[in-house]
Amino acid sequence: MRTPMIAGNWKMHKTLAEARELVTGIREGMGEMTGVEVLICPPVYLLFPMAKAIAGTPILMGAQNAHEEAQGAFTGETSVAMLKDTGATHVILGHSERRHVFGETNATLAKKVRAAVSGGLCAVYCVGETLEERESGRTQAVVEAQLRAVLGADVPAERLVIAYEPVWAIGTGKTATPDQAQEVHTFVRGLLGSIYDGPTGDGLRILYGGSVKPANSGDLLSQPDIDGALVGGACLVAADFLAIIGAGASQAAAAS
Ligand code: PEP
Repeated sequence: MRTPMIAGNWKMHKTLAEARELVTGIREGMGEMTGVEVLICPPVYLLFPMAKAIAGTPILMGAQNAHEEAQGAFTGETSVAMLKDTGATHVILGHSERRHVFGETNATLAKKVRAAVSGGLCAVYCVGETLEERESGRTQAVVEAQLRAVLGADVPAERLVIAYEPVWAIGTGKTATPDQAQEVHTFVRGLLGSIYDGPTGDGLRILYGGSVKPANSGDLLSQPDIDGALVGGACLVAADFLAIIGAGASQAAAAS
């Protein structure tokens, strides 16, 4: 069974005081919820204090980006070793904002994913099509190119989580229907089986991301190939994030 993961991408939100309040709310609200992995991904300047805030809890922490080089003259960037020093165990790579706002390509992401996994982090690697690509029938081709260009035998599956995030659904309030998401997740799982092997593809978690909210999380997470959620806007409010974590825990309980 794949353990559901609910990951929160805080993007460029939260001051230190706000972050402390949010994480306290999540920590206290999680109570006895089990069977689900919870990952918070604060902005890089909050990683050290958030590591302290989640110490002794099952909450995991990740970064939102990493540079592919180990060190050097890369103003404003953060290396994998630096992220590891903060206590981060995961890093989101290939988020659509990194691809479309900051121009990251599959070729760059192939280097970043390798740097992350060889440096001991788990990569949450994001893929997804734009609206124009979907409407012109290219969803599968785009997602396949994003996966094949970046994954391979030198990217160990145990350090990998995939997130399918249709670009048109991120921060827009438009969610893929559970059927639309499941269709792409099935396709992604098949590709993972061909890049790795069938059992490895079956064991990899594929999260859905794109306007996941308390109201739609139950339906999305009940799809057989949706193994959790990467949440943007709704992860900034403890009650909303907790409701989505609760949907993940219910899913885990139903599957066990
Ligand atoms: C995201 O940032 O990965 C995301 C899915 O955002 P939102 O949930 O706000 O659409």
